[in-house]
Amino acid sequence: MINKINELKGMSFGPDKIGIAPASRFDKDDPIFKILPETKSVICLCYRILRGTHRGIEEGTSYHHYTTMAIEVLEETVMPMMTLRCARMLEEEGFTALPQRKTQTVMQEDDSTNPEILYNKIYRGKKAEFQMNYEQTAAKCGIGEIGMSGTLLTDDFGPLQRYCFVLTDAELEPTPEFVPHICDNCGKCIKACPGNAIQDKTKEPWQCAAYYAGANMSKNPFMSQNAFPNREDRLEILKGEKKLDSKNAREVINEISYYPPIMHSYISSICGNACDRACYIHLEEKGVLNKKFHNKFRKREEWVLDVK
Ligand code: SF4
Ligand code: SF4
Repeated sequence: MINKINELKGMSFGPDKIGIAPASRFDKDDPIFKILPETKSVICLCYRILRGTHRGIEEGTSYHHYTTMAIEVLEETVMPMMTLRCARMLEEEGFTALPQRKTQTVMQEDDSTNPEILYNKIYRGKKAEFQMNYEQTAAKCGIGEIGMSGTLLTDDFGPLQRYCFVLTDAELEPTPEFVPHICDNCGKCIKACPGNAIQDKTKEPWQCAAYYAGANMSKNPFMSQNAFPNREDRLEILKGEKKLDSKNAREVINEISYYPPIMHSYISSICGNACDRACYIHLEEKGVLNKKFHNKFRKREEWVLDVK
């Protein structure tokens, strides 16, 4: 069975990496056992995010590619198809299998959000719907480690990947656990965030949502020069210095819709995951990533616009 699963990597649009965690690596109350109580193995299918999708926002010249090609196409097309294929292979052999990708618009929390999704498309407080912890589960599958930014880091791609899962009652040979060695606590991810949203290995959801959508004028070429005309704290917001609660974050996001959303409720990323981009540049400069490129990712000084 394990050989068949590994063959997925060679298929058209197959994953770049596959990791498998046995049920014993999870606490008894982990959501995976609510979603599929008979789970014996978790299979992680990991896909690179094309480095090219980060170039437009890096240069400040093209913004939609990142959200469409690095998020939407992977999450809505490629990953569901491949988890379905993997699950069908398992069920053909008589095992139960359930594909898992982020249920983007439903959450148990009453007052949180998913920065990648338009906040008003999310249904909150849905306690009966369990969600896996995606980063932690990918790490348990031996794919990589969690960096200071809260992002999963791998030896091949640094922070540039997305992942999905198949839960199954098949007992599969596990991938060895990943021994953390990539994140050196340089803090460049924290410094790069235009909204100071990263704390304690976590991206604060509402703070991240507002600045992911482009609330920092110095990193948003679409921002109106008259943004937030009636707010006393406008400069604080525009400089990324304001701590935003959910109410303030909603108000800010409502006022900065200068760029169209993508289909499937995805909000266009204006920060372009600057935290991950900074991490990628750092790891590339250190020469520690397995996947090498002919040219350096960053070509020039980072651009910054005036805040006024
Ligand atoms: S930028 Fe530095 S501190 Fe942040 S996750 Fe990457 S290696 Fe770790
Ligand atoms: S850089 Fe963007 S994605 Fe990263 S924490 Fe900040 S706002 Fe969120």
